Amino acid sequence: MQTIIEPFRIKSIEPIKLTTLAEREQMIEAAGNNLFLLRAEDVIIDLLTDSGTSAMSAEAWAGIMRGDESYAGARSWYRFRDTVMDIFGFEQVIPTHQGRAAERILFSVTVKADSVIPNNTHFDTTRANIEFLGGKAVDLPCAEALDMDSDHPFKGDMDIAALEQLIADTGPERIPMIMLTVTNNSGGGQPVSMANIKEVSRIAGSFDIPFYLDACRFAENSYFIKKREPGYADKNAIDIAREMFGYADGCTMSGKKDAFANIGGFLCTNDAKLAHRERNILILTEGFPTYGGLAGRDLEAMAIGLREVLDHDYLEYRLMSTQYVVDRLRDKGIPVVYPAGGHAVYLNARRFLPHIPPLQYPGQSLSVELYREGGIRSVEIGTVMFGHDPHSGEETPARWDLVRLAIPRRVYTQSHMDYVLEVIEQVWQRREKIRGMKIAEAPDFLRHFTARFEWL
Ligand SMILES: *Cc1c(COP(=O)(O)O)cnc(C)c1O
Repeated sequence: MQTIIEPFRIKSIEPIKLTTLAEREQMIEAAGNNLFLLRAEDVIIDLLTDSGTSAMSAEAWAGIMRGDESYAGARSWYRFRDTVMDIFGFEQVIPTHQGRAAERILFSVTVKADSVIPNNTHFDTTRANIEFLGGKAVDLPCAEALDMDSDHPFKGDMDIAALEQLIADTGPERIPMIMLTVTNNSGGGQPVSMANIKEVSRIAGSFDIPFYLDACRFAENSYFIKKREPGYADKNAIDIAREMFGYADGCTMSGKKDAFANIGGFLCTNDAKLAHRERNILILTEGFPTYGGLAGRDLEAMAIGLREVLDHDYLEYRLMSTQYVVDRLRDKGIPVVYPAGGHAVYLNARRFLPHIPPLQYPGQSLSVELYREGGIRSVEIGTVMFGHDPHSGEETPARWDLVRLAIPRRVYTQSHMDYVLEVIEQVWQRREKIRGMKIAEAPDFLRHFTARFEWL
């Protein structure tokens, strides 16, 4: 069959409030031109994030009712722990309320003020948590990742030569861990190959440096490996995931991504001593080790979601529905990161609006215009997010200026995506008239969440 359908039926719906252009202009102005500050009900298609926005299955909702809310040793904890151990294979599982809580706990026991942590590309909360402790977060994407026109199948790979150079320059003792983010969210949602995971693992091992996966989209990455890497076509996603984690010493995970959960996360390691120290911090700020920062029902939902997300019909639909949007944009000549990543479509704002210099935030301008035009909420991934050094206060253009349209799992249909395509095309037609922006006010850390912007 040529047509790939959503492999589910809709049993429960949420109405969308349709707004007018005049209403949207007034609302985005009141929100300081920051899409994070809008009321969600004033958004028509919400592509701000795929995080915590997934549609749960009837089975997961049933699990919510079955959740065991016992303070210690709940049945839902054991179900969750056993599922994580089965898929991820690590000996120690620490439940947290989100991925960033897992990051904070991990870094607070490993990162010092002179530490350096390489990653293919750090996600914003990962970078912020390292920098908050005084450490340095270094991005080492492969050369192809920087080429928006490259069709390279694994643009999420780390630059191996750059990693070896960094270890030589820094000294392994200052590197508490090497990380790989699968798929590489901030680098365009691009997958990391098994070959790269293996090679980074080998290098880390040779210097006795722990190797961690930021596993948020592990199922999507596994399916990309199945589809694109020689030798994996006949393997199941779950076996590919197991192999991937087999090369790592631990992982951080957000259940709000590839676990279909609305909240949740976890931290894994094979190091029992480290886990002991991590659990001591967990108890201080999250909760008892058998629930972390979660309710029993959340653990139950994650346990069910982690299995569902590895279903091949789901993963095929997931990757193909993202590619559907990317292919159509590309056909129209609209600058989009190619090949399609897993969870999101990334418009290349610097090319979409070449007349706006990076320090006038072309990504922010474009995302505000997509809202004005059609009520679409996206997120800037560029100079607003990464262009500010919180220690020096210095402002420099980020490596790229992208606008991410993240696609919530199992939430929007193809006709919603056809609407999104039409809105983008309308903005594309009048792109030459779009102006840059300046920041009116912003905090030092994670400024993109609360900054207010003005048109130039
Ligand atoms: C979402 C995300 C995180 C943080 O997880 P939260 O649950 O939002 O705290 C970390 N890394 C990556 C790659 C992510 O996508």
